[in-house]
Amino acid sequence: MPTKNYVLALDIGTTSAKAVLFQKSGIVVAEHENAYPVQHPHPAWVEQDPHEIEQAAIAAISTAILKSGIDQHDISCVGISSAMHSLICMNEQHEAISPSITWADGRSVDQANHLKEFAGKDIYLKTGTPIHPMSPLPKLIWMKETGYQPYLQAAKFVSIKEYLLVRWFGTYKVDYAVASASGLFNIHTFDWETSALSAAGITRDQLSEPVPSTTVCQGLSSQLAERLSLPQDIPFVIGSSDGPLANLGIGAINPGDVAITIGTSGAIRQMSAKPETDELQEIFCYGVTEDLWIMGGPTNNGGIVFQWMKDVLGETEVERSLASGSGSAYDLLTNLAADVQPGADGLLFLPFLNGERAPYWDADARGSFIGLTLAHRKQHMIRAGLEGVIFSMYSIGEALERLAGKPSNLFASGGFARSSLWLQIVADIFGREVHVPVSHQSSAWGAAWFGLYALGDVPSLAAIKEDIPMKESYIPNNVNHELYLQLYKTYSELYFSLKPHFHSLSALQRGLGR
Ligand code: ADP
Repeated sequence: MPTKNYVLALDIGTTSAKAVLFQKSGIVVAEHENAYPVQHPHPAWVEQDPHEIEQAAIAAISTAILKSGIDQHDISCVGISSAMHSLICMNEQHEAISPSITWADGRSVDQANHLKEFAGKDIYLKTGTPIHPMSPLPKLIWMKETGYQPYLQAAKFVSIKEYLLVRWFGTYKVDYAVASASGLFNIHTFDWETSALSAAGITRDQLSEPVPSTTVCQGLSSQLAERLSLPQDIPFVIGSSDGPLANLGIGAINPGDVAITIGTSGAIRQMSAKPETDELQEIFCYGVTEDLWIMGGPTNNGGIVFQWMKDVLGETEVERSLASGSGSAYDLLTNLAADVQPGADGLLFLPFLNGERAPYWDADARGSFIGLTLAHRKQHMIRAGLEGVIFSMYSIGEALERLAGKPSNLFASGGFARSSLWLQIVADIFGREVHVPVSHQSSAWGAAWFGLYALGDVPSLAAIKEDIPMKESYIPNNVNHELYLQLYKTYSELYFSLKPHFHSLSALQRGLGR
């Protein structure tokens, strides 16, 4: 059979489903993204409709293929990436009986705090998942304790990727990385962790079968194949979660290769040949393949901080961008910030607008500008905001360094990589060269590569390094690096000084229903 020229990736993100069609060399031929809404039925609850996500994914795939104009029979397979930590309750008929509860949902904060105080550390050392409301484990405990009806009736508990696989192929399978992110999976034995299951009050037959990322699902119904614009027998390769796939898709796979991804949220990650957990429980370690793990730390405050600054401070830029149709409001705001010297003339910003995960794991952390004077202008605030997000990444990087050693190369991906100013700030704060691929769709390319690897089209995962079209590198400026280190010294002490005040303010905000 002649080899096929294209490979497709489906990336189910936090805010949208993206389908990206690649040539086998990694060049993007066509892509399409469909956003889906998020519901907040109560403060701190963050839910999505699994059916809407499925429809968005189907439409994204078929639109990307139609846009490309290529023959569907020339696509070798579909690799799948998904955001981590989602949780859906399913009934015996394989129907969702709860919404998809996302990583951003904070309803189980009390359960997570309680677990952390008692059995939590032991569970973390086995699962590599920091005990935090982001993951399904505390959410399941919350469901058990509050008598949540869908939990009481559930035949299965799945993530959004498993939901799609059940709908499309009728099979309950989960890749190791998505399983890991549930907080219920043992990263040493690659099996469900009994102590976590008993804390959650569920049994292993209520979970999917953990399988390698190269597992193939095949056999679309004719109706679905038609809606997807794909052949019925096209192999879907189960792939992994977006974190490890971003590392793979960007080429950050060797020791010392560190990936920095900043989309709405953000993370800094490094692959490892063995499972490593952290006595301080600051760093996650998820299984990827039977001989590959991924370590790192997530932040709640990535691009969402810039989005907030755009909404709050960027009214003029949003209007100008809409009126001229040239350049996004983000570009106009970064141009403004670029006029200010590194260090924003001594203005610091703590970016914890959305509470924080790594390295402090404190849902009650809050944001703040520190050091304002009459001389500071809007552009200083924007620059300090961009720098604050990267100081936060640097602090997570320090925690990661304790386990993984010093980074040698940084690789950047996610929406923030559209800004050369923001990338230069990364190079200058870390004092390391930053490499940037042509496509921002690193998780999608990682998923596509897993697909090609599963079909035997490429020799190894590591061989991807030869097939990542790279755009440019950012070289650190040593003078700026020294200045940033000086500022970082103050930045890194501020959270601890302000913590009691953050906590009393967040309690007050909760009392006011915020
Ligand atoms: P998601 O994580 O939802 O997939 P993306 O990877 O698309 O999100 O990243 C979205 C974020 O990227 C925005 O919140 C914004 O902070 C940032 N961003 C988007 N465009 C630009 C730009 N031109 N310059 C700088 N940052 C940008």
